[in-house]
Amino acid sequence: MCHHGSPCAHRRRLLASLPAAALLAGLGLSPARADAPKVELPAPGPRDTCPVCGMFVAQYPEWVATILWDDGIAVQFDGAKDFFKYLDNLDKYAPDAPPRRSREWG
Ligand SMILES: [Zn+2]
Repeated sequence: MCHHGSPCAHRRRLLASLPAAALLAGLGLSPARADAPKVELPAPGPRDTCPVCGMFVAQYPEWVATILWDDGIAVQFDGAKDFFKYLDNLDKYAPDAPPRRSREWG
């Protein structure tokens, strides 16, 4: 039994944290790696508008989201919210578009 206070408390905390670290390692969890290839998407032009809300996309460079379809058509959005709205309802936002497959998005 320890009667010294702080050093023993520190040791107990260290020993208590070891099983958690071992558990994470056993689950194969490790820090995420950013080794995916870089996606090159076209920058929005000054007159490009979001197909969902009509806002000028280039005014929000930090929030731009883009779908690059396999036929080379790029659709850009002023934010992720409208990006997902569009993907969730293609019948509404792109009713005349031919069937496409997305090549890249980001
Ligand atoms: Zn929008």
